[in-house]
Amino acid sequence: MVAAASDGAVQGNLLLLGLPAADAERLAAHAHRVRLDRMATLMTPGSPINSVYFPESGALSEFVLMADGSAVEVGFIGREGMAGWPALFGSRVSGLWVVCQTGGVFLQFATTDLAAEVDRNPELHRRLHCHAAAVIGQRAISAACDRHHDVVARAARHLLAARDLGLDDELVVTHEFLALRLGVQRPTVTVALAELERLGAITHGRGHVTVADRACLERIACECYWTTRREIGRHLDWLPAPLGAWFSDANGVT
Ligand SMILES: [Zn+2]
Repeated sequence: MVAAASDGAVQGNLLLLGLPAADAERLAAHAHRVRLDRMATLMTPGSPINSVYFPESGALSEFVLMADGSAVEVGFIGREGMAGWPALFGSRVSGLWVVCQTGGVFLQFATTDLAAEVDRNPELHRRLHCHAAAVIGQRAISAACDRHHDVVARAARHLLAARDLGLDDELVVTHEFLALRLGVQRPTVTVALAELERLGAITHGRGHVTVADRACLERIACECYWTTRREIGRHLDWLPAPLGAWFSDANGVT
């Protein structure tokens, strides 16, 4: 179901990577590999969490919906994570709007099937609990970031994270999505992207951002890019060495 390709590139979802063969086979029997289009809604606030999703490619976003109808992005899920993990702790309904930000391939499980596997499989149980801890850690970092770092540094952080967690150098990122992620108005996003382009880090057009100079983008991004990357990595301690080392890479942290 998930494996390292011969060229070293890892395919599949990192939470399920390298499980013992018997466990992987049993999981595969319950999994449905589905292709989701951009903007497909998987969960809404108050909806039952009947299925959970593990991105193999593409990415999901989690939003809090406000009373005035606006939305604020609070989570971004790539191959390092899953959508619907609160159901494994007994939550029956979603508190968030979960939408496919970038189309791709996802493993879908009926929540009851995955919960039964978690009960019988201590390693899967540990991994998914680690993931929940990583999500809580990321939320804390983001809360601090939103209060302390300017919008250009935060935009750089989020573009790097999008690049790392499922998207290519040519990112499909609309101004609207970036505004929801940063919690700012679209004109502010326009100004931030123009500044990143002026500095040589990106080029951008309508609905697309291209990472022109990753090292430059890393220099501009706030420390939270690195803190978050390490927070994710320390909860993925089963990864093979090259991948694990990438997550714990301290470059850029001073
Ligand atoms: Zn920050």
